[in-house]
Amino acid sequence: MISLHHISKSFGAFAALHNVDLTVRDGEFLALLGPSGSGKTTLLRIIAGLAFPDEGYVRFNGEDVTELPVAERKVGFVFQQYALFKHMTVLDNVGFGLSVRSRAQRPSRAKIRARARELLDLVQLDGLGDRYPAQLSGGQQQRVALARALAVEPQLLLLDEPFGALDAKVRKELRRWLRQLHEQMGLTSIFVTHDQEEALELADRVVVLDRGVIEQIGTPEEVYMAPRSGFVSGFVGDCNSLPVTVRGGRAQFEDQALDVAVDRLRDGNARLDFRPHDVVLSENGHGLPLHVSGVYRRGGSWRVEGTVNSSGQIVEIDLDADQPAPQLGSQLAFSITRARVFAVERAH
Ligand code: ADP
Ligand code: MG
Repeated sequence: MISLHHISKSFGAFAALHNVDLTVRDGEFLALLGPSGSGKTTLLRIIAGLAFPDEGYVRFNGEDVTELPVAERKVGFVFQQYALFKHMTVLDNVGFGLSVRSRAQRPSRAKIRARARELLDLVQLDGLGDRYPAQLSGGQQQRVALARALAVEPQLLLLDEPFGALDAKVRKELRRWLRQLHEQMGLTSIFVTHDQEEALELADRVVVLDRGVIEQIGTPEEVYMAPRSGFVSGFVGDCNSLPVTVRGGRAQFEDQALDVAVDRLRDGNARLDFRPHDVVLSENGHGLPLHVSGVYRRGGSWRVEGTVNSSGQIVEIDLDADQPAPQLGSQLAFSITRARVFAVERAH
């Protein structure tokens, strides 16, 4: 079990992480999700022992490792800035972590090569050990980087946007394969991504970071269905936001009362969020008016874009593609079937 307690880290006057608490269970596949600059890499580097917190501590299985350098933490990592060594063959790249061990712990050269070959088998690159990185595709290079990380038999695997540079299809294949490998090897893995789809698909739990603060930790289902803050609601999954007024526990958009109950919010301005698919068109014209300004095919559904009011508030709605596509410029009405209301955000 990995646990972080009250971790803070600043660069000059800039607080990159603020009071982060996190527990990672054995065997878990955890995603760190957040926009660029939210502190994901900094947090991962602190867990790896490549950076050290200003405050707080890190424990591995109860033992304080805050001051322990990377080489003694038994972590494997795939970080963008630790690319493959270009001048080394694939086999030597994979064996690297073992070959730089102190003499007492270093296996023989033959053993290292045998182990590297096993790992290349595992990442399905057998037979490519004598090539140089430049002779491989991007996806193959990332699998070599993963084999290199696994060579030291890590208890913990850390991955920082490992598939960021790959095209969408290869990326999807590799992440599913990675998830299988994680199961097969009984790893504990922490995966950094700014891609919410990737996090929701892969992870047992998702940690949502914003500006150095953990906004929510939960299963993909929890962070998607029950976001705890306006930030999580807007960042995880497609989301529409309408400015509303709360009065006596009901939300109201312009002059129209909405069928949305609001608890724990005072009367005043608020923000109503709903997903594009949490909408039904009404037959009788009741509901919010929508002036259709765009219709796009998205696989099994239509994505309809429209304006809700005279001020041009835009929303996106998903309709099943077996329904006829709405006409551009037509006037529809819709009701929202599931929504959440948040206090209007203050800067923090
Ligand atoms: P992410 O990985 O989520 O994009 P980072 O952890 O890399 O974010 O960075 C968080 C913030 O800390 C960013 O604003 C970044 O510019 C800053 N930062 C990170 N590393 C350093 C550093 N070595 N020196 C100064 N600022 C840094
Ligand atoms: Mg980063």
